[in-house]
Amino acid sequence: VWQCPCGGPFDLTFRPCPPLNLTGRPYTLWRYAEALPVSPEHRVTFDEGFTPLTPALMPAAADRKILLKQDHLFPTGSFKDRGAALLLSHAHELGVRSLLEDSSGNAGAAVAAYAARAGIACDVYVPESASPAKKAQIAAFGATVHAVPGPREAAADAARKAAGNTFFASHVWNPWFIHGTKTAAYEIWEQLGRKAPGTILAPTGNGTLLLGLHLGFRELVAGGLCGRMPVLIAVQTEAASGLARMWAEHLQSPPETPAASTIAEGIAVRRPARAVQIVEAVRSTSGRFLVVGEEDIRPAYHEACQAGWYIEPTSAVALAALPQLTPDLPDPVVIPLTGHGLKYTAD
Ligand SMILES: *Cc1c(COP(=O)(O)O)cnc(C)c1O
Repeated sequence: VWQCPCGGPFDLTFRPCPPLNLTGRPYTLWRYAEALPVSPEHRVTFDEGFTPLTPALMPAAADRKILLKQDHLFPTGSFKDRGAALLLSHAHELGVRSLLEDSSGNAGAAVAAYAARAGIACDVYVPESASPAKKAQIAAFGATVHAVPGPREAAADAARKAAGNTFFASHVWNPWFIHGTKTAAYEIWEQLGRKAPGTILAPTGNGTLLLGLHLGFRELVAGGLCGRMPVLIAVQTEAASGLARMWAEHLQSPPETPAASTIAEGIAVRRPARAVQIVEAVRSTSGRFLVVGEEDIRPAYHEACQAGWYIEPTSAVALAALPQLTPDLPDPVVIPLTGHGLKYTAD
């Protein structure tokens, strides 16, 4: 069962048990064990996490204090490994033997790698248009790749149909995934000396990163470990800006829009399943949605590369939004680098 009968996604009622005693623990995302809803003996892990948080030093930063969270350095090259580590640990705990996932590429690669680590058979549904590097990476882990023609949603629909009799390891629908992505919040908090940053700018499609950041900081605040929430800013590309329109036009769900092509393939999601939660998360931190033009992504990508950051264009979407940062948004500003440049080698 992967979907509530109401049609919405499930969440966990899990509460972490503070105090978090971090002394002497290895620098992996598992150092926050009390906050992770899987038992230690079922962990499926490559000892991942605790990625560096490093000043950006690039012209677009101007006089702001911009810190980049280097999540492109995860084992499969994207932050999706955070979610896959928790989701596959949960699947392992349940004794799952085979599973499927749908993804534009990075979540599929992450789930395929952790499935390989756990010895679980894996099928991944990707849009035919996904980058060749991502499809090759998923296949290299031994997963079966189903390349589905048409827009991103066609792969999601095909996966949902196949999910009738297989464990659906969906990064969008399965709440364990978000309990994995929330470790980014715990790490940022610890790296800043047990404080929240002023603002976080996250490229947002299905919202698994944004919701993870929100959940993590909410837990830290609720546990008395952090004084306040950071302002969460969700950044979208014009080509897939359903959440931003929902926000601006006070809609109950993302509007129907035609499929548009974008180099930000990681966030080419028109109608995310957790749309209402994402808007609520942004609102509750006094955040907002920013939209960047498709023509602004490539220059931001090149500027990042020329400053030494090899990222995929989807990660550059948040950097492309830097000129839209208003003075009321407090420093330091954290931007997660979500995917590695080797995922995308076109130009
Ligand atoms: C998945 C992904 C995102 C966005 O994550 P969502 O959960 O869809 O909001 C951003 N960048 C990259 C590289 C990704 O793979």
